[in-house]
Amino acid sequence: MTDTTDESSAAPATLRGRSSAETRSAVLDLIRASGKISRVDLARRSVLTEATISKIVKELLASGLIVQAGYAESTGGKRPVLLKLNDGGRYAVGLTMDFHSSTVVLCGPDGAELARITAAGTGVDRPELVLDRLAGDIEDLMRREGVDRSAVIGLGVASAGRRGFPQGWNVDASFFDVWEPYSVEDELAQRTGLATIRENDANCAALGEFWVSPEPHRDFITVYMSHGVGAGIVINGAIYRGVSGNAGEIGHMIAVPDGELCWCGSHGCLETVASPRAMVDQVVQDPELRVAIGVDEDTPIAEVFRRIASGAAVEHAGVRRVLEVAAGHFASAISDLVNTLDLDLVVLAGPGFSGVGEIFLRAAQERVDSTGFMRELHPITVRLASIGSETAALGAATVVLQRHLTPHRTAPLA
Ligand SMILES: [Zn+2]
Repeated sequence: MTDTTDESSAAPATLRGRSSAETRSAVLDLIRASGKISRVDLARRSVLTEATISKIVKELLASGLIVQAGYAESTGGKRPVLLKLNDGGRYAVGLTMDFHSSTVVLCGPDGAELARITAAGTGVDRPELVLDRLAGDIEDLMRREGVDRSAVIGLGVASAGRRGFPQGWNVDASFFDVWEPYSVEDELAQRTGLATIRENDANCAALGEFWVSPEPHRDFITVYMSHGVGAGIVINGAIYRGVSGNAGEIGHMIAVPDGELCWCGSHGCLETVASPRAMVDQVVQDPELRVAIGVDEDTPIAEVFRRIASGAAVEHAGVRRVLEVAAGHFASAISDLVNTLDLDLVVLAGPGFSGVGEIFLRAAQERVDSTGFMRELHPITVRLASIGSETAALGAATVVLQRHLTPHRTAPLA
């Protein structure tokens, strides 16, 4: 696509030179994030001309994606017409599944959560049983809320890994082997009759963050720590997916040259030194630290991490050292990403930051403030996610909604 808008140089860097489809998506994002907004305010906030806004709004009204919603207060002349997203009785469903629990959410077309259920986790049950059960949970939620299947745009599934594994770092390799043959999205589409998209947890967290922010950044990354470490890269308000849809595998950036062998074949990957599993390994290998937090070599990983991240253990000098070394490696990776992508916002999300988020946050913020190419060009903010780590399901629903609203950004729903 080479059809670019003819905006003047007054357009902000994020919109100047974008294709008309991207400009249209940006305007739609503004309407969605604002709730209700007039054409004049759209022009002011997008820094597009009023003529361009009028043209785009006309198209959006004709397509039925937005509707008129009354009038704003007059500021002297005619009262301006307000515009909003057409809720039109459409919904999206989001799902996340973990070893211990699963979450299903029902969202409106603006991404607002309408209802949720917390259901059984995967446990060690066979995948067919788990998938049957989840499809039943989704049916139950729709029935309970009186939502007809035909009104649901689609189902988004937040998952770890490349093939749709359930989330969680507290499971062993055999768990992934069991799930490997299953295409979770195909299986759930078949069972629920809903168009289903699977998206990795980091991308779901990033897109969820984009949708809940009233003044969303159009370019940022969300670093998601769970079983591994991944990043959702948002560029111009859309997820950057890469050649095979696997962009953001920052857990395999090299943190320690010639370090420990990683399962991916490289040595010294970030995951080998700064994931929950890596921190757990270091604590468990040290007899003094084992005693300090009351675990032994057979304590399950999830329990060890829970103890490491509890307030008391974090204050133990030895445990603190393990966490701070990990946070230092993590901060280096963040700095590389900021310099590579010219970012001014990095968001930290996911269960792996639970209880230790502040340590990682501080290390990363100090690093980007004190070193790196970008720090003298603009401020760089590192912050914890505004939606909780348990709401990857909400992010998965927004993946469905974004594909529906702005299909040029991604492939259509299956
Ligand atoms: Zn690796």
